Amino acid sequence: MTADAVNSDTSESETKFNRVLLKISGEALMGDQGFGLHPPTVERIANEVKSVHDLGVEICMVIGGGNIFRGLQGSAQGMERTTADYMGMLATVMNALAMQSALEGLGVFTRVISAIPMDQVCEPYIRRRAVRHLEKKRVCIFAAGTGNPYFTTDTAATLRANEMRCEAIFKGTKVDGVYDKDPAKHDDAVRYENVSYDECLQKRLGVMDASAIALARDNNLPIIVFSLDEPGGFRGILAGKGTYTRVGG
Ligand code: UDP
Repeated sequence: MTADAVNSDTSESETKFNRVLLKISGEALMGDQGFGLHPPTVERIANEVKSVHDLGVEICMVIGGGNIFRGLQGSAQGMERTTADYMGMLATVMNALAMQSALEGLGVFTRVISAIPMDQVCEPYIRRRAVRHLEKKRVCIFAAGTGNPYFTTDTAATLRANEMRCEAIFKGTKVDGVYDKDPAKHDDAVRYENVSYDECLQKRLGVMDASAIALARDNNLPIIVFSLDEPGGFRGILAGKGTYTRVGG
């Protein structure tokens, strides 16, 4: 299966994808609040994930931590950068646990798998074990980013998607794709259907940070950017419907 599956004509009850990674920012979980977790929003996204899981697709998830803490914010306030980044990584674990709870409430089996071992809370990251979970149709929620400061959860998503041999990363955002300028500020912003990794990097299109895009490019991993605010959006995009931008080679 290739990245082209996302552009193919297929019914909503079918998808050619077997294994995908869904990346969402921490802010996607805070609803209209300015901070933290908004349980109805977490549940809504969990329902989106369940509807794709029901198709038999193996799902990895990476959730950011920006709704709770970002390392750069902390270091801007005088905190030592690596300490602040570890706090950001811990924030992603909290989000992962919230998503686990919501998914399991819907009857979807999950594992939270942390790049930083914390055995009482969740599993440590062991690649082969994670692959086995996916084969058993458990949703794997990868937490604590890459486990290293100076990275982001976008890079963690690209890393895990490569390691798990996902066919694509689906990046759920507030907008339905990648635009040449911010569509919230410019009425004449134009959405790309397809855009290359290099164009994203050269034009700083803000899809993901540069190291994440470079890692995707070097492994020819497509990134599908779509709106998470569209009900049924994730399932629809997997079936090749709706609007989105495909970042690829
Ligand atoms: N972080 C990190 N290493 C990683 C992933 C994340 O240090 O591999 C820290 C970093 O401080 C970052 C925070 O965790 O600001 C939250 O992640 P991110 O900003 O990617 O979250 P998002 O913007 O997607 O909500």
